Amino acid sequence: MRLNGKAAIVTGGGSGIGRATAVRFAEEGAKVAVSDIDEAGGEETVRRIREKGGEAIFVKADVSDSGQMKRLVQTAVAAFGGLHILFNNAGIGHSEVRSTDLSEEEWDRVIDVNLKGVFLGIKYAVPALKESGGGAIVNTSSLLGIKGKKYESAYNASKAGVILLTKNAALEYGKFNIRVNAIAPGVIDTNIIAPWKQDARKWPIISKANALGRIGTPEEVANAVLFLASDEASFITGATLSVDGGGLTF
Ligand code: NAD
Repeated sequence: MRLNGKAAIVTGGGSGIGRATAVRFAEEGAKVAVSDIDEAGGEETVRRIREKGGEAIFVKADVSDSGQMKRLVQTAVAAFGGLHILFNNAGIGHSEVRSTDLSEEEWDRVIDVNLKGVFLGIKYAVPALKESGGGAIVNTSSLLGIKGKKYESAYNASKAGVILLTKNAALEYGKFNIRVNAIAPGVIDTNIIAPWKQDARKWPIISKANALGRIGTPEEVANAVLFLASDEASFITGATLSVDGGGLTF
């Protein structure tokens, strides 16, 4: 078991990539604080972990809220006696419109959740990771943090920001034995891509537009996160690992 004795927090753990990773972490022996704004989804993830004999708790928290993120870390540390892994994963998309048509409110919300949420996770988890002798942070960026796509202005900007925030944190906390990496998923079969799936014209193209010719599963992303969070990645920090079937080819 690759995470035996470790305590982990997973944000956005109530669905998709976060849920698959929380379950995977628990299978490898970690105690997991599953966090989300969606209580029912988070509790369902906890139920799935416990059903398999794992240990998990649900902590409701909005990643864009400083007080709630502080409490999330405090709650996990109190429950598990320390913290070794943070998966900063919660994220949202936005209306598929040009920037000129995107409301300021939508821009702010996407940046607050996708980018500030990662900042707050780092801010409050690092002291706890230091206390535990070090650990690993994995941040969820995106293929769209590397490549531009029309009608994705705030998403593009937020996910590109996550990549350099990851490098920054790797530099700042390496000396405390804290590694910080990012993943950049391509098109993965979760709720967030529902609007793309409904586009009868574009979906047949998007769903095959990578080297492997298919979309990915949350479990395939979870395996990459597990690797970066585990000691197998002990000399990897500041990196962004693409999990995208070879990247969009159109
Ligand atoms: P998802 O919608 O299934 O899961 C996202 C989860 O985040 C949901 O449970 C949601 O309730 C939660 N969430 C949303 N806002 C939150 C907030 N403010 N605080 C706490 N939790 C919040 O989608 P997913 O694909 O599993 O998304 C996970 C991450 O992966 C996101 O950061 C997303 O941008 C990223 N991503 C997804 C894809 C893809 O194709 N699915 C590709 C690249 C990156």
